[in-house]
Amino acid sequence: MSNIQDKVVIITGASSGIGEATAKELAYKGAKLVLAARREDRLQKLQEEIQNNGGQAIYKVTDVASNEQMEELADYALKAFGKIDVMVNNAGVMPLSPVHEKKFNEWNMMIDVNIKGVLYGIAAVLPSMRERKEGHIINVSSIAGHLVFPASSVYSGTKFAVRAITEGLRIEEFSNNIRTTIISPGAIATELLEAISDAELKAAVVEDSKVAIKPANIARAIAFAIEQPSDVAINEMIIRPTIQQ
Ligand code: NDP
Repeated sequence: MSNIQDKVVIITGASSGIGEATAKELAYKGAKLVLAARREDRLQKLQEEIQNNGGQAIYKVTDVASNEQMEELADYALKAFGKIDVMVNNAGVMPLSPVHEKKFNEWNMMIDVNIKGVLYGIAAVLPSMRERKEGHIINVSSIAGHLVFPASSVYSGTKFAVRAITEGLRIEEFSNNIRTTIISPGAIATELLEAISDAELKAAVVEDSKVAIKPANIARAIAFAIEQPSDVAINEMIIRPTIQQ
């Protein structure tokens, strides 16, 4: 039996890309899923697909930038399934731009979703995990959480922050038997680039992303971290396309 069988897993950003692929992979391996994102039509479609294939999934429309909505999401999971084994803080946005363009709204959105969203996700699930002395928090950072590229100052700042927060969480919570994993993908073919508002920059990034691999590859890495024996923690993984620089 898979070590993922019957684990209750919340996935944020489940409406597309890496989150959606992770939901399908974990459903196939027997997890009980709680899908979260803002686009209800996408969540409903994914839930139906999972259920039609014999998997278990419920969903809740959630904005990760809202502390209250993240608390409600955790409560919803606890009421439905009685426990939360794994939280996958995956939701993220990447409206790249150079700092001098002062796109304050886009900076705020990245900070709210990529940093605060992860913190609110951690905060929402930590009490029940600490009580059970068991749990696993997986935060999706990026290769941009290790390296800074032109126009990625703010995005990289948020993804470096995700790694720092996750390592801090590990140090604070390992003695409570809570595992932490940082996932740092390279170029993955998803809708992430859509949010780049500068057409020229977007075209250049799209060109660079021609090497991108499918989100299912990240889903498998996440499943690998979850399915380890409970005394083994995969703390960090970088997954790049082989031919990405
Ligand atoms: P997508 O754009 O396909 O997916 C992003 C997801 O985040 C969507 O499901 C979206 O759902 C959700 N989301 C965005 N804002 C919010 C919000 N405020 N509240 C709730 N959900 C939100 O991109 P990816 O799958 O690529 O992105 C997933 C993660 O992977 C991100 O953290 C990204 O930074 C990271 N990553 C991606 C890489 C890539 O090359 N694709 C490389 C490295 C890291 P909705 O709009 O319905 O709310």
